[in-house]
Amino acid sequence: MQIASHSGTKAILEKYDIHARKSLGQNFLIDSHVLKKIIRAPNITSDDSVLEIGPGIGGLTQALSECAGQVLAVELDGRLVNILGEIFKDCSNVEVIHSDILDFEIPTHINKVVANLPYYVTTPVIMYLLENFCFESITVMVQKEVAQRMASNNKKKDKSYGALSLAVQYHANASIAAFVPPNSFMPRPQVGSAVVHLEVLKNPPVDTDKGSLFANIKAGFGQRRKTLVNSLYGAELYPFTKEELAAIIVGCGFSENVRGEELNLSDWAVLTEALK
Ligand code: SAM
Repeated sequence: MQIASHSGTKAILEKYDIHARKSLGQNFLIDSHVLKKIIRAPNITSDDSVLEIGPGIGGLTQALSECAGQVLAVELDGRLVNILGEIFKDCSNVEVIHSDILDFEIPTHINKVVANLPYYVTTPVIMYLLENFCFESITVMVQKEVAQRMASNNKKKDKSYGALSLAVQYHANASIAAFVPPNSFMPRPQVGSAVVHLEVLKNPPVDTDKGSLFANIKAGFGQRRKTLVNSLYGAELYPFTKEELAAIIVGCGFSENVRGEELNLSDWAVLTEALK
């Protein structure tokens, strides 16, 4: 039986008398087309050891176990951990762990992450994975707006572009693998979703001090409508006068009235070096 289907999910929820917990972001995937797109984006093969965050009732876990060498599934809800243990008892390549993903020590042999993430904790989980581990790729279902922010490079001057886009770009090449409507889940969420695929970079794409870079980016996006010179001056990160900051910005080749949202990651790195 395919779990990630309307009938499969309904049968399991009824059999185990499970009511989805909204507080844990439990919206189970019931659309096999979306499932295929999630699996296809990272090209999972039997050589891969995959970490799944939040397996729920196992819809995605089942699909992963059919193509990956190993699936390590980390679930916070103890009720579901027991059920998953029963569902996958004969599946030798699936291991289910009861833990909060943010407290779990991820083994070093894991090379890919795949998840339909609980939306309440999306950004902290993605940043935790990007900043602390070296995976080949991370493929996650997230809220549509978050996916657009993660994947924006501002080439089209879109409103999604911001500090999260730059934080993701520092670690990975991001692309949207699929847009997913609310009726692909049970229960239906209020918002649209999207699958984001991150190909993790071996080295950062820019060469500058990371702490200073992101302190500048945070200041630059703090008040989007302000010019960069006013944002940086207001953030009091440097002992420069407004005129000195303006001269540095112009010296980097940007207009005196440039806004933070007009700079790409390389521009931010150039500015960070100039502000040193
Ligand atoms: N993977 C399943 C699917 O696609 O149908 C369920 C996805 S559901 C959106 C998110 C799952 O993450 C839920 O099962 C929830 O209990 C679990 N979860 C929530 N917070 C978690 C955390 N901090 N660590 C691990 N799992 C978590």
